[in-house]
Amino acid sequence: MESLLQDIRKCTACRAQLPCPPRPILQASIHAKIMIIGQAPGRKVNDSGIPWDDLSGNELRRWLGVTKEQFYEPDLFALMPMGFCYPGTAKTGDLPPRPECAPLWHPKLLAEMTNIRLTLLIGQYAQKRYLGTAFNPTITENVRNYRTFLPHYLPLVHPSPRNKIWQKKNPWFEQEVVPALREIIGGMV
Ligand code: SF4
Repeated sequence: MESLLQDIRKCTACRAQLPCPPRPILQASIHAKIMIIGQAPGRKVNDSGIPWDDLSGNELRRWLGVTKEQFYEPDLFALMPMGFCYPGTAKTGDLPPRPECAPLWHPKLLAEMTNIRLTLLIGQYAQKRYLGTAFNPTITENVRNYRTFLPHYLPLVHPSPRNKIWQKKNPWFEQEVVPALREIIGGMV
């Protein structure tokens, strides 16, 4: 794993498409039990170099019911976004994760992390890649039907402050999905 992480840290595969020098940001251990596949680091995370070190991370930890210490324990959580480097920003928000990244690195990382028991799929890019033909027409339906993907996968919306409106429109998420998620995670950490 250490040699693979060193290779990833040296990756420049999509350097020409990135707004700044590549800075892959992830957390991985061969002992990790819970995988979190998000989108890509935002500007703040790119600056700190710490995955989920932002408001989205705070909200995600609240959903999971875990402390920062638990979240940043690599033997518990692997944090492997669809794109490891900050992809830049457009008028409507951060750009999508670079499409080169997951096909290049995910299979190698997953081959090392054989202890993973649950994978949280955050947002459309992770859900499209890992749910395949089981992907519902919308992310909302994937999340609403989360039980059908257990015990291996659990789809979630992105915990970004931008998605507060979605959460208000879909109160079942906070009432049903968050408590179920906490119970599942609580039994694993
Ligand atoms: S986003 Fe992924 S593929 Fe592109 S340079 Fe960073 S690590 Fe390499």
